[in-house]
Order: sequence, then structure tokens, then C-alpha cells
Amino acid sequence: MVHFVGAGPGAPDLITLRGAALLERADVIIYAGSLVNPALLERKKPGCTVYNSAKMHLDEVIAVMVRAEAAGETTVRLHTGDASLYGAIREQMDELDARGIAYDVTPGVSSFCGAAASLCAEYTLPGVSQSLIITRLSGRTAVPEAESLRAFAAHGASMVLFLSAGMLARVQEELLAGGCRADTSAALVYKATWPEEKIVRCTVGTLARAGAAAGISKTALVMVGDFLAAQGERSRLYDPSFTTEFREGTK
Ligand code: SAH
Repeated sequence: MVHFVGAGPGAPDLITLRGAALLERADVIIYAGSLVNPALLERKKPGCTVYNSAKMHLDEVIAVMVRAEAAGETTVRLHTGDASLYGAIREQMDELDARGIAYDVTPGVSSFCGAAASLCAEYTLPGVSQSLIITRLSGRTAVPEAESLRAFAAHGASMVLFLSAGMLARVQEELLAGGCRADTSAALVYKATWPEEKIVRCTVGTLARAGAAAGISKTALVMVGDFLAAQGERSRLYDPSFTTEFREGTK
């Protein structure tokens, strides 16, 4: 059996209990070495074989899983954050399906949650935005035209950009072209929850300059929106006069 496991954003105690238990039982671990904190590998049992997928292509990863399966072994495929976001898990699952190899998926704390926690930020502030757009700039992987950053910028919703910290000039340009105000709050969070985490607060108009000044060009998220600065209105949920299924509101 193959277990796809979300490693969390970096700090080794941000993996789920289920993910940690699977790591401890695994005969084989294939981890995404470019982003997964190697400290997580300290959970491996004696005799466990470890592969770094940063140095492997898809066929090699699948070959390791096939060999382990044939030997009756358990494989953990450890992905950074949560594997459902930019994790390239579908292509692996398709290959496993074709070979009749069983698998399951354990979620993880995505870096966009880790970064929000580091900033003590709430993406969905009442009166500011009730939506979060998770996206990226196109790079070697194309982004569908209808999902261009420029098109999304027009919504004025809270945004978080993966895989785009190396293209901050283009990020800034696209956001502004889409109608984002230059003074909209923005932040760069480098290696959220790692010991070397770095936070840079800026505005959309100063994104590229701020990134260059801090030397941030990878392993970072770009966060955009007034949720980073605004106080927001109070929520209805905890308003004293609000009646819910669980409590009676006061007059
Ligand atoms: N599945 C992962 C994302 C993988 S794509 C997740 O859920 O977080 C890789 C990109 O994720 C990086 O280029 C960077 O933009 C972002 N990323 C991953 N870990 C990060 C971290 N600890 N801090 C900031 N950004 C991170």
C-alpha cells in the first residue's frame, strides 16, 4: 500500500498525528526533498529506505513504489504542505491505478495556512473579503487564460500565490493591471514555520522592490489583500445578539 502524506509547511510538529504514525510504520519513504523538512525523517523506523524525489523523475518514483509493493512493503510518499495543492499526486495515482496498487491520502497543513498563522492573519475578514483565491503565475506550467492573475485581481478578494516568488515584478504588474490598488496590503512569507522563516510586509506597489531587498526569490508565498491590514467588522457568529443553533442571542 502507498500512503500519500502531507508533511505540513515545515515545522516538524505540524504534520498530522495520522501522517506521523504512517511515517513511523513505513518500510519506504519517498520525500519531496526540495521542500519537506528533513527533520521529519527522524520518525523513520530502523531499516526504512529513504528516497529523495527531488532527484527522481516520475517513472523512478513509481518504480520504487512497485518494488516495495511486490515485497509486501508499505510506502509513504511525503509531500510538502497538503498534497492536493501543486503536489503532482494525480499522475502518481493514475500510474498506481493502472497497476492495481492501493493507496490513500492523508491531508497536511498547507503552507498558505502556515503563513497565515505566522502573520496571525485571517483571510476571510467580514467587511473586507469572504473569499480566498489560491493561484500562481504561469511558469513552465501554464495557467489557463481565464485564471490569469490579472483576471483574479479584479475581484479584490484575498489572494495567496504559490510558486511565484521568483517573478515578483510580473506579479506586481499583473495585479496592478487587473485593477488592484498600489496601496493594497501585501506580504511575502519565506519558509513559513521553518526556523529561518522571514516575513516581509509591503504593498502591491512595492512587492518587487521589497522582495529584492529581502533576497526572497523562492520557497515563499505572496499574500495580497486588505485582510493583511484591516481590522474588519466583527463577525456575526460571535455577535452577542446573534442567535445560532447553539446559543440564544441577547436583545
Ligand atoms: N503542497 C504545498 C505547495 C507545493 S508548491 C502546500 O500545500 O504548501 C511549492 C510552493 O509552495 C513554493 O514555491 C512556495 O510558494 C510554497 N511553499 C511551500 N512551503 C512553504 C513554506 N513553508 N513557506 C512559504 N511558502 C511555501
